[in-house]
Amino acid sequence: MPPVEPAPSAPAPISPERCPLCGADNLCAMERERLTGEAQPPCWCTGVTFGAALLERVPEPARLRACICPTCARGADRSTEGSTPNA
Ligand SMILES: [Zn+2]
Repeated sequence: MPPVEPAPSAPAPISPERCPLCGADNLCAMERERLTGEAQPPCWCTGVTFGAALLERVPEPARLRACICPTCARGADRSTEGSTPNA
């Protein structure tokens, strides 16, 4: 039997503090509070709606584990919400 080597196709570890879509710091206050143990102001994500289309872009292993960053959340929201032609 050949020596056992680590699988080359192992998935990248999920970082809860990084955006699963672009890899940037997601600035999640709730995650920061957990890491630092210090109380944080309400997270920006509590005031943003994450659309189903946006959540579908998150890789399966990262779902419910890593937060989407503000840039991706707002960018996707704008591109998918085209329902106000004459406001
Ligand atoms: Zn992002």
